[in-house]
Amino acid sequence: MKLTRVECPSCGQPLVSKQREEDLLFVCDCGTIHMRDPKPKEMEYQIARPRDARRPDNVYVPFWRVSAHVAIMDTEVVGGYIHKLATLIEGGGGRYSGNVDIYVPATKLPAEEFRKWATALTNNPPHYAESKDFGGISRMPCNISEKEAEELADFVILTNEAEKPGTLQYIRYTMTVNNKSLIFVPFIRDTLARLYINL
Ligand SMILES: [Zn+2]
Repeated sequence: MKLTRVECPSCGQPLVSKQREEDLLFVCDCGTIHMRDPKPKEMEYQIARPRDARRPDNVYVPFWRVSAHVAIMDTEVVGGYIHKLATLIEGGGGRYSGNVDIYVPATKLPAEEFRKWATALTNNPPHYAESKDFGGISRMPCNISEKEAEELADFVILTNEAEKPGTLQYIRYTMTVNNKSLIFVPFIRDTLARLYINL
């Protein structure tokens, strides 16, 4: 724990937070969430309402939603496998360029879990009602920076494509990030720390 004294950039309220190790977020009662690098920067975010809010094992997992324009320049796929990226891109239809939201866990997870949830949410974007606060549910720290999130978004695209081993020979694409925001997704964490989505 480190004690940090900062003020909310929106309402000026002092936030004397017992900042958990590595948590990059400062959360104010007024609803403003900001990061500092080192200047305060207000973050755009959404909190998804859990399907079952009463469970004691609920936990919020922060994700970066990286909205990017992706254009596939060149690819070679053996066996006519239609790659997921192309199907994700808006208005696909053989024109392999468009916008896609890439979901990158904003908290450090074991590699397998990271990949699992990144690809699951990127391939099936979550539908949810918004909640105005965390409703007393604890949240995992945000310890993946914006910059890391961009690099990881690249990684998510590649591992997503490589899910079917041996099919993708190579892919060349460009990715232009248009926007990044945070989304807090409700999960259930069991006694073995396994995560199950609660939407
Ligand atoms: Zn505030």
